[in-house]
Amino acid sequence: MLSKNDCDTIGDFSITTVVNTPPWYENCYVVRHRPTGQQVVIDPGGEANRIAAAVSENHGTATEILLTHGHPDHLGGVFDLQAVFAVPCRAHQEEQPIIAGLASWAGALMRQRLSPPRRLEYFSGEPTLKYDGFDVRVVFTPGHTSGGVCYLFDGFAFTGDTLFNQGIGRTDLPGGHGPTLTASIGRLLETLAPSTRLYSGHGPTWTAAEARPWWDWASSHGYA
Ligand SMILES: [Zn+2]
Ligand SMILES: [Zn+2]
Repeated sequence: MLSKNDCDTIGDFSITTVVNTPPWYENCYVVRHRPTGQQVVIDPGGEANRIAAAVSENHGTATEILLTHGHPDHLGGVFDLQAVFAVPCRAHQEEQPIIAGLASWAGALMRQRLSPPRRLEYFSGEPTLKYDGFDVRVVFTPGHTSGGVCYLFDGFAFTGDTLFNQGIGRTDLPGGHGPTLTASIGRLLETLAPSTRLYSGHGPTWTAAEARPWWDWASSHGYA
C-alpha cells in the first residue's frame, strides 16, 4: 500500500515528496512554481509512474529533471520518466564517471538492471539555472560523490546525500572522500539563510538553523 505524498508550500512553490520503495526509501521531489506551473523533478530514483502521477496531479507537465548526484537510487527513474515527459536531465560534469558506471552499480547495489537517462546534460562549476520566473542556484558539494551538488531555491534547498536530518552521506563508495564532504557541508551551511528548509535524499526535512548547531557539534566530536 502506498502512502500519500507529502506536500509543502513555500513562497511561490509547492514541494511534493515521493518516497521510493525499500530498501533505499529515496526522496524524489516535484517542485512546482505556482505562478507559471513549471515543475522541476529532483532525483527521480524509481517508480516513474508514481512520480509522473504526482506531476500530472498538479495539472501540468515537467520542465526539467535535476540530479543531486548519480547514484542509482537517485536516477533509476529517469529513463522511464523521460518516456512520459521528454525533458532534459541535468547533473554536474564531475558526476560523469559515476553515471557512466551505472550498469555495474545497479547490478551490485540493487540487483537490477537500470537504463541510463535518455537525455543528459552536464553543467560545470556552480551555475545559476534560469527558469521562467525563478532561478535555482547550484552549490558544488563533493564528498559523497565527486560531482555532488545541492540546489538552492528561494527559501528551500535540496541537499541530496550530502546532508541529512542529523546525518551526512557515506564516503566509502567510489568518488567519496570524508574531508571533502566535511568541507562541502561547512561551506553549504555558511551559504544558507537560517530559515532555509532542507530536503535531503533520504529521511525528513529540517532547517539550516537546526543544521548549523548540529553540524558544529558533530564536526567537533569526530562524527564527520
Ligand atoms: Zn548517494
Ligand atoms: Zn541516496
